[in-house]
Amino acid sequence: MKKTAVVTGGAGFIGSHLCDRLIGEGFKVICLDNLITGSRRNIGHLSGAKDFKFIRHDVTKFIKIKEKVGYVLHFASPASPEDYLKYPIQTLKVGSLGTHNALGLAKAKRARFILASTSEVYGDPLVHPQPESYWGNVNPVGLRGCYDESKRFAEALTMAYRRAHKMDTCILRIFNTYGPRMRLNDGRVVPNFISQSLSGKPLTVYGRGTQTRSFCYIDDLIEGIFRLMQNDCPGPMNLGNPHEFTILQLAKIVLRLTGAKSKLTFKPLPQDDPRQRRPDITLARKSLDWQPKVELEEGLKEAIDWFSRNTP
Ligand code: UDP
Repeated sequence: MKKTAVVTGGAGFIGSHLCDRLIGEGFKVICLDNLITGSRRNIGHLSGAKDFKFIRHDVTKFIKIKEKVGYVLHFASPASPEDYLKYPIQTLKVGSLGTHNALGLAKAKRARFILASTSEVYGDPLVHPQPESYWGNVNPVGLRGCYDESKRFAEALTMAYRRAHKMDTCILRIFNTYGPRMRLNDGRVVPNFISQSLSGKPLTVYGRGTQTRSFCYIDDLIEGIFRLMQNDCPGPMNLGNPHEFTILQLAKIVLRLTGAKSKLTFKPLPQDDPRQRRPDITLARKSLDWQPKVELEEGLKEAIDWFSRNTP
């Protein structure tokens, strides 16, 4: 019997790549998405596959699935700062009510539950790089609070279900990830810089561009998630690329790779924008024998190629 995996947010950027991998590995996949930030285009190529089912559903409402389920992978949420500023209540609801429903489904089906959490739980970190043992520095009432706190609540709820119901759960903390299928206008720095370069517009650097991020290519992340599924580790576990860059360095690399002559334009730094971010991936290295393989330039070339073919 094929194992069935339910992927919430399966029509999103990471969710759709996860659906692809699971279908490729011989799973049956039930993809749930309300399409507020996800898109049918991301899963269009799977629509005819006999082991793939898409259900348009808002997971903050009760999730009804008849089949046996081996895995519930809870990936639904707006994840770009611009998106969660636009949908703050939906973001809080999917992290709280949505996680509650997804956990309830996993409990009823005795399935392994994986929560897609985020490096945002570390807020503007005072410990660098960030190990899983760090509790974070989050402003609950700031503009990013809707995302950070909903994911922190989701982590606490996952642990409560694990302890109270002896469930098989895992918390995964995803650091900045990029690649094909990100929306051109999703507002995050990689699609912004690539689309600005491709259209000859100035690259919008927020603040002085001295803040840092560590960018993981989507294929590396999916490999880590797939290994985590087979593992019984409860997490939290960081997955991300530990190679750190300033935003100014990123802008220069994108300009060089695209050959664009765009200038840089400096814009105000968004509220509570983390000054630095880099995952400590010791735990993933040890327990999954995993580490990213794709260097930034190599991954950016793939992303640039995809964006140039998919820009209207
Ligand atoms: N950023 C930028 N220009 C942009 C978009 C983002 O300088 O057009 C900066 C942003 O202020 C942050 C970093 O790039 O410091 C990463 O932002 P992103 O929205 O990709 O995700 P975050 O890591 O903040 O969740």
